[in-house]
Amino acid sequence: MWPNKPDDFAANHKAPADADSGDAWYFVFRRGELICNTSQGAPEPVTADEFRWFDMEVRSKHFLGHYLNRPCFAVAAKGTMAEGYVTLGLRGLLGRTNQSLFYLAGRAQQIIEWHESHEFCGRCGTGMEEHAQDRAKQCPSCQLISYPRLSPSIIVLITRGEEMLLARNAAWPNGMYSTLAGFVEPGESIEQTLHREVKEEVALDVTNLQYFGSQSWPFPNSLMLGFHAQYAGGDIVCQEGEIADAQWFSATNLPQIPPKTAISGWLIQEFLDQLEK
Ligand SMILES: [Zn+2]
Repeated sequence: MWPNKPDDFAANHKAPADADSGDAWYFVFRRGELICNTSQGAPEPVTADEFRWFDMEVRSKHFLGHYLNRPCFAVAAKGTMAEGYVTLGLRGLLGRTNQSLFYLAGRAQQIIEWHESHEFCGRCGTGMEEHAQDRAKQCPSCQLISYPRLSPSIIVLITRGEEMLLARNAAWPNGMYSTLAGFVEPGESIEQTLHREVKEEVALDVTNLQYFGSQSWPFPNSLMLGFHAQYAGGDIVCQEGEIADAQWFSATNLPQIPPKTAISGWLIQEFLDQLEK
């Protein structure tokens, strides 16, 4: 169930001549939300044929590749969509559509966001041009190359015997607890990030890091690397302003936790499954 196998999607940033066909999928984003067709139940992107009936102006269009042989484009557009369609933010799409489509929509939104925020060279201010080979932009004046940005981060479930440490972020709704997470800093290995984040957020030491899997998390451009780690020492001290509460929980007194569509929920479920065995 987790996206750890080759996908049904074949990425390619150069569109073949026949790619823009009537049944091509257009991931159309308007004001940060995806325009969806929900006539089959689960939300789907609109086809090129459907989009032709929309009274919308295309701001930019980017070929993504093929999903099950169907060409896919990211389209940034403004104007009025036709009646009978809905717009959904990526969070609203999560869990309501199949995983491949969610990650494809995330890819589309990230490429559009990158395109719109890298119109000019960050070093000399000249207008950027498309790179000849790669999904990248290059400055014709100073040659600076810009690739779509990803922000790697770690996410970790700390365990102690049959207990797990779950924390509540200061910004979350009451009652919701999850695993610890944090961004990788320049110069760090993933493992060093994990030890630093755990120390900063709850003042604990951990050992026996076990890598479980990763998830693209397009809010806005994270790549989450998921671990289990064992408690090695220390008393919980919550980082002020960041962690409102952190506690040891067992399988029988779990608080409200994230769904399995998020890697945090999946890391917790994996541990619960291990306990059952
Ligand atoms: Zn430049």
